[in-house]
Parts: sequence; C-alpha cells; structure tokens
Amino acid sequence: MTSPSRHFATHEEMESYPFPFVCFACRKSFKRPYSDSPRPCPDCSGDAIALARRFRAPRKNAVRPWRVVAYLVEHGFFYQPVHNELGEVIRYPTTMTAASQFVRQYRAQAI
Ligand SMILES: [Zn+2]
Repeated sequence: MTSPSRHFATHEEMESYPFPFVCFACRKSFKRPYSDSPRPCPDCSGDAIALARRFRAPRKNAVRPWRVVAYLVEHGFFYQPVHNELGEVIRYPTTMTAASQFVRQYRAQAI
C-alpha cells in the first residue's frame, strides 16, 4: 500500500490538523496528527489507521456501518475524494451492498 496521505492531505494539513484514526477492533475513532503508519489505539493498543478528514465515524455500537468502513479501507478507500465520470465528488456508501458496488465501480481510484 502506498502512503494514503498523498491522496487526501496536503503537507500543511498533515502538520497542522488532527486526522481521524480508526480502530476496527474497538469500533473507535480518535483524532491525532497525521501519520502514515498506524498509531496505537488508546483502548486496545492495536493498530489504528488514518482516514481522510471527511470521514465521520459511525456510532460505536453500529456494527454493520463499521463493517462497511472496514471493507472500504481494505479495498483502498480511505475516505479520500472519489469522483464519478462527471468529475463530481461522490458520497461514500453506508451499506455493504452499495459498498461492494462502489468498490467495483471505482476500483481505479483505490489507493
Ligand atoms: Zn482498539
């Protein structure tokens, strides 16, 4: 996997703003300055990975939406902007059915 930051953060942003990091084991999101390598989750010390700042975490007990997020990340979608054929930024899917279609359709824009 290449460094996702190049696709969704300017150098300035990386230094100045916190990014959402997610731990899928805990279904937890927390903010830290950007890092290409995983940061330890404050709850379980497992690997938490950085997503683009537009990411909004599902509620902790929302198991299925979290599964969709994990699936997208696994396929190279870190909530970086994804464009349709008209060049418009599209919304990220929130259901598994939509997510698998999204991954097939926009595979070329995966990181
Ligand atoms: Zn954790």
